[in-house]
Order: sequence, then C-alpha cells, then structure tokens
Amino acid sequence: MASTKPSYLIVGAGVFGVSTAYHLIKKYPDRKVTIVDQDAYDADSRVAASWDWNKVVRADYDDIIYCQLALEAQDIFKEDPLWQPYFHESGIFWVCRSDYAQDVIDNYKKLGRAADLQSVPIEEAKKLFGGLFEDANYDGAKSVLVNKTSGWADAGDALRAVTKWSLEKGVKYVAEKVDSLDFDKSGQCTGVKTEQGNTISASHVILSTGAYTSKLLEQAAQKSGNNNLRAGSRIVAGGITTGMTTLDEESYKRFEKMPVGVQGYTAAYGPFIGSLPPTKDRELKWWGEKIFKNTHEVLPGRFVSAPPSELDYNQWNVPGPLKQDIDHANDVFYGKNGANWKMEKHRICWDAFTTSSDFIISPHAGAKGLYVATCGSFHGYKFFPVLGKYVIQMLEDDLAPELKEKWAWDRERPSPSLNPDWPRFEMSDLLDQWPKAKL
Ligand SMILES: Cc1cc2nc3c(=O)[nH]c(=O)nc-3n(C[C@H](O)[C@H](O)[C@H](O)COP(=O)(O)OP(=O)(O)OC[C@H]3O[C@@H](n4cnc5c(N)ncnc54)[C@H](O)[C@@H]3O)c2cc1C
Repeated sequence: MASTKPSYLIVGAGVFGVSTAYHLIKKYPDRKVTIVDQDAYDADSRVAASWDWNKVVRADYDDIIYCQLALEAQDIFKEDPLWQPYFHESGIFWVCRSDYAQDVIDNYKKLGRAADLQSVPIEEAKKLFGGLFEDANYDGAKSVLVNKTSGWADAGDALRAVTKWSLEKGVKYVAEKVDSLDFDKSGQCTGVKTEQGNTISASHVILSTGAYTSKLLEQAAQKSGNNNLRAGSRIVAGGITTGMTTLDEESYKRFEKMPVGVQGYTAAYGPFIGSLPPTKDRELKWWGEKIFKNTHEVLPGRFVSAPPSELDYNQWNVPGPLKQDIDHANDVFYGKNGANWKMEKHRICWDAFTTSSDFIISPHAGAKGLYVATCGSFHGYKFFPVLGKYVIQMLEDDLAPELKEKWAWDRERPSPSLNPDWPRFEMSDLLDQWPKAKL
C-alpha cells in the first residue's frame, strides 16, 4: 500500500536544499526525504554557489528581517557543535558610502542585541587591524562599519558536513540531473524525471536549484504544456567572478587574523565587493564588481538567463576581462600591498536573483505539490543553519505574514535599478573582445 505520510523530494543540494533536508529529517525522522543533485555532495568540484572555499557570515543588514534571521543563524554557527567548527569570528571591516553603518547599528539596537560594532571615521579606521586597509580606496566613503562579531565560514566543508549528517539520519541522496517535472492528470506535481531516465516521486517537490531554476522551469513548462510554470521576470540567473591568491609566509602572518573586507557602494554605482581572510591553505579571496546575466535561447524561442549549458557551468574557464575584475577588487582593498600578488584561481559563481534580493520560499502558483526555495540573491549562504526551518513553515502554511509576503512567488517587485547587486551586464557584452565560443 502506498504511504499516506507526506514525502519530500528536494531538487538541489545547496544551502537551501540541504538545510530543508536537515530540518525535515530532524522534525520528521520517519518520513521519506530525498535530495537529487547533479553533483555528488562530496565531489571535488560542484556548480553550487553554496560550494565554495568560504563565505561571509554576518548580520550586518539594513533590512531588519534579514538582520534578525542572520543573528539566529549566526548563533547556531557559534554554538552548535555540528556548525561551530566551520565558523571564524574574524570581524568585518565595511567601507560605507551611505548611512549603512548607522542603519545596521540601529537594527542591532532595535533587536536588543549587544555586540561589539561601531561606525568608525575613515582616518581612524585606516589604522585598525595593523593598517591592513590603509591603502584601500575610500573615495566617497562616509564611515567604516567595524563589527567584531561577524566573520566567515568554510562554506564547502560546512555544506558537506551537514549533508553527511542528514544522510546518516536517513535522508536519501541521488546524484542525477533533473530534466523535467512530472504531473498527474489534475496537474499536481508528483515528482521529477532525470536525464538518466529515472522517475523520482514525492508528495512535495521543492526546487532549490539556484541559478538553474528558470531554465528547469522552462523545460518543465515545455514538456507539460503548463506555461504558468515559467519563472518569467521573478528569477534571474547572475554570475560573479571570484579569484584567489596564495599568500607567502610573510604576508600570511600579516593577513592571517584580518577581518572580512567589504567595499560598499550605492545602487547608482554598483554592488559591494568583498575580500575574505586567508583559508588554512593561505588563500585569500575576492569577489568582483561585475554581476552579469547570460541570456540565451534555452529552448527554441525561449530566452532566459541561465548558467552556460556545460555540466560544470564552464565555471573554471574564466576569460581575461573577468579576471581583470578581480585585479580591480585587489586594488581597491590593498593598493600597493597587494600589487605583486599573483592571482592563481578564478571561478564564475552563479546564483539566482530577485529584484528585491529577497528569497523565494513559496508554493509555486503554477502547480499544486510544487514549491520553490532558492534565490539567495548573492547573500543566502549565511542563513544555511535556519533556511530549512522556514521552508518547513512555508510547506505547512505557518510562515509569519511578513515572511510569507516577502518570499512569495507572486508579489510586487521593485525596479532592479534600486538594487546595487542586480546583474546589470550581459556576460557576452563584457567579453566583446573574446570569441563567443569561450562563453
Ligand atoms: C561569488 C559569490 C559569493 C557569495 N558570497 C556570499 C557570502 O559571502 N555570504 C553569503 O551569505 N552568501 C554569499 N553568496 C550567495 C550564496 O552563495 C547563495 O545565495 C546560496 O549559496 C544559494 O544557495 P542555493 O541552495 O539556492 O543554490 P546553489 O548553492 O547554487 O545550489 C543549487 C544546487 O542545485 C543543483 N541543481 C541545479 N539544477 C539542477 C538540476 N536540473 N538537476 C539536479 N541538480 C540541479 C546544483 O547542482 C546545485 O548543487 C555568494 C554567491 C556568489 C555567487
């Protein structure tokens, strides 16, 4: 006899998908929870944005909802033995060109959180942390937000550990690529079909497919004939270049205890740029300022932004103009200090964006049984410990009204021109000098 208990099929093993599986198996140890991802969770290379050397973990938000949520997640990173080994409380040094520093401080106050954070005048800030940022670019800067309680996480290691924990508790993992969705006669989503030809069924199908989400929904719409499945303008895939240098012994000693560095800009100029402290392999990382779409014909007559169609999103093949973006990032943080550093690794990392930078954690309006939990919009990783808790609340129609509205599939969305992190370029335009084949 078929089971009447709810069952869950999560497509995508990034932070949204794994956190959902983690919370589901904790809450319902006797229910069937399956993750399907194109990559093995312990593969040497994965396409997930969540799979990375390191990510910033901070609650420095001017949006009070994300500030509160990030504090909740950070408490777990700091205290729970499963998460704690991956968090480093290095502090953050955030050059602000708006009132951001004060907005963050106000949010901490409103939430009743005491923390070592302050807005520091520029000249004073340059002397902090042994003068590591004395040569940074401060053009147009108002102050520097210094929060000693923020930090970073070993992103890929934490993802692997929490996935492994969930598998040990009973979650099943299938390493296959989903090609389309399955529906019954009433139009209810009943599972997925993989490129390998398998069908996986569940009463709840949750898409946590990051940058691939719009393309997958296009494929599902075409196969099923249900045009309401398409994401349209709700979700846009955007790519960002990251780069790393390996510090020599002397520089490592100087930079080992550095805080996370952030160069914040206004929407009129562009996105914030970041530099993360060296890993245990002495690798210091940046992300660049060019966030780009890759709009192309994913199906005959259907144009959406999606990562390149190679299985690895062609993420390690980074063309010269994008590498220059990392040289620029190096320069605005370290000036002459970093002028001789050799950039050894580059990667293009793809994420799903919404115009408001809000996640989508919502039933999909186009089919019963289908749910969406993704759209990290370049800031989703830090919420890893708690995302799944809210996905379960969504599945059980128990989300607080303000979250339900904020993360809805259908809602009013602001103009992208107000969003500094919105993908404002086309990848092909940035690579004008490069053969198109390199895309
Ligand atoms: C360069 C960069 C730097 C960032 N820095 C930070 C930071 O410092 N702090 C922070 O909080 N956030 C940061 N983010 C944002 C954060 O990484 C993302 O928002 C978050 O990881 C997205 O998680 P996800 O689960 O939605 O997607 P992903 O992590 O991308 O996971 C999606 C998964 O779905 C799988 N998948 C997709 N399609 C299919 C399919 N058809 N079949 C099977 N599997 C499929 C993929 O293999 C992948 O594993 C950054 C993002 C980028 C790109």
